[in-house]
Amino acid sequence: AETQARQAQKMEAVGQLTGGIAHDFNNMLAIIIGSLDVARRRLADGRGSIGTYLDLAMEGAQRGAALTQRLLAFSRQTPLTSEITDVNGLIRGMEDLLRRSLGEMVALECVLSGGLWRTRVDQGQLENAILNLVVNARDAMPSGGRLTIETMNAHLDDAYARAHAEVGPGQYVVVAVSDTGEGMPPEVVARAFDPFFTTKPTGKGTGLGLSQVYGFVKQSGGHVKIYSEAGRGTSVKLYLRREMMADVAVSPSPRSEASPIP
Ligand code: ADP
Repeated sequence: AETQARQAQKMEAVGQLTGGIAHDFNNMLAIIIGSLDVARRRLADGRGSIGTYLDLAMEGAQRGAALTQRLLAFSRQTPLTSEITDVNGLIRGMEDLLRRSLGEMVALECVLSGGLWRTRVDQGQLENAILNLVVNARDAMPSGGRLTIETMNAHLDDAYARAHAEVGPGQYVVVAVSDTGEGMPPEVVARAFDPFFTTKPTGKGTGLGLSQVYGFVKQSGGHVKIYSEAGRGTSVKLYLRREMMADVAVSPSPRSEASPIP
């Protein structure tokens, strides 16, 4: 009976993994299909340039290829990579992709803190996590709004950790993805990280986005927290552990006020 239970657990883990990958692919395919669709219509009308849409489709395809690489690595039991990461640079690198997947109704603002500490993560997974949060935010703002990605250093002391049971004390690089969307009632916040929990219509939501984000952050030794108010908006904060070695290895970036990307 015990081996059967373990087998069932293993199958569940495999199911969650494949579901999560399907979810990521779905995000990428949506971008590729959307871009090619615009390009095709522009070509048919003979108006407007299509270069940027082809670039976007290419970027989506390349992300898909990177994901399969990771899947292959996983099936070979190769551990996920973890690299010392400049989170601000990673976000800047995604900005075009994010802006276009948000469409014209949603304004994107990046407020990236100067002198941000480094963290050690799997960069592909962090990109996927941010993309998942941004897609959720977009879905929560069907009639438009504002999406803000903010980074900051956070030193959480024991008192804070006691008050927020799920966040341990220590030094963290924080990534906050905030929207001005419909928000979540407390009972949705309570279940949001559960695999397969979704409030979206069938075919639209898989309920795997946030559970993947949770799994990734926990694996990296960090935390994730949702602040949400129905009718006002949602903010999801990723707490990624500060990498202490990075200060020796990487020359410090100049201290400056937090400034939006031009
Ligand atoms: P999915 O997006 O496929 O439904 P997720 O795990 O990403 O799966 O999200 C679970 C649920 O959490 C969503 O169905 C939605 O109800 C809620 N949710 C997630 N992000 C937001 C957000 N930014 N604003 C409002 N609700 C959200």
